[in-house]
Amino acid sequence: MILLKTKEEIELIRDAGLLLGKTLAEVGRHIRPGVTTAFLDQLGEQFIRDNGAMPLCKGFEGFPSAFCISVNDVVVHGIPGEVFLKEGDNVSLDCVINLNGYVADSAYTFAVGEISPEVQRLMKVTKEALYIGLDKCKAGNRVGDISHAVQMHCEKNGYNVVRELCGHGVGLQMHESPNVPNYGVKGTGPLLKEGMVIAVEPMVCMGSKNVKFSKEDGWTCRTRDGRPAAHYEHTVAITANGPDILTTFDFIENSNN
Ligand code: MG
Ligand code: MG
Repeated sequence: MILLKTKEEIELIRDAGLLLGKTLAEVGRHIRPGVTTAFLDQLGEQFIRDNGAMPLCKGFEGFPSAFCISVNDVVVHGIPGEVFLKEGDNVSLDCVINLNGYVADSAYTFAVGEISPEVQRLMKVTKEALYIGLDKCKAGNRVGDISHAVQMHCEKNGYNVVRELCGHGVGLQMHESPNVPNYGVKGTGPLLKEGMVIAVEPMVCMGSKNVKFSKEDGWTCRTRDGRPAAHYEHTVAITANGPDILTTFDFIENSNN
């Protein structure tokens, strides 16, 4: 069942989204060669709790940390640990928080120092794909319109989208209906209605779309070919006029980092 949110609920999800945007920026500010992903996770978790919110990934089906932190060929669901970031890495922070009972989900891929033009382009195209998908978040469209738009933009640029994982409804819980795949056919899938809140999250591979999940931890999702991947995510409310984006990259992109 797809839960529709009231205008008041959407404002409360926006409050969570605003704090999440600040959180990603706060952690992002500390991304540099030599820091560990565990350090970033601890810093971010403290920031979330200091601001009266709860990190929802921590404890979710046994996931051990507040953030998914995914470096280079890790597409998503990287577990923070004694992984030292180095110049030229690309690292995505993905986090879900609950503020006053309302849930926002967002992710951003950062460069560690100077990165290659190839990875820069992957990140740029992935972020473009997110906004192209968000543009389809209008009442009367269908989920497949989002999926198709994301897939086409990535493939046209020579990249591939992951099939195993997808976006999702969000707002009252971390994962609600419907699923929002990053590939699909226009005009198919659930109808988008005013009051739906979803997470759109392209996961894009520079090389092949095939991924593998770590046998040791059951979470870490890597590209099979070892080439880099990128991931950006916004939580968005569907309106009759188009997307109302409830999370924000403004704090990341307007910082002087
Ligand atoms: Mg997420
Ligand atoms: Mg998500």
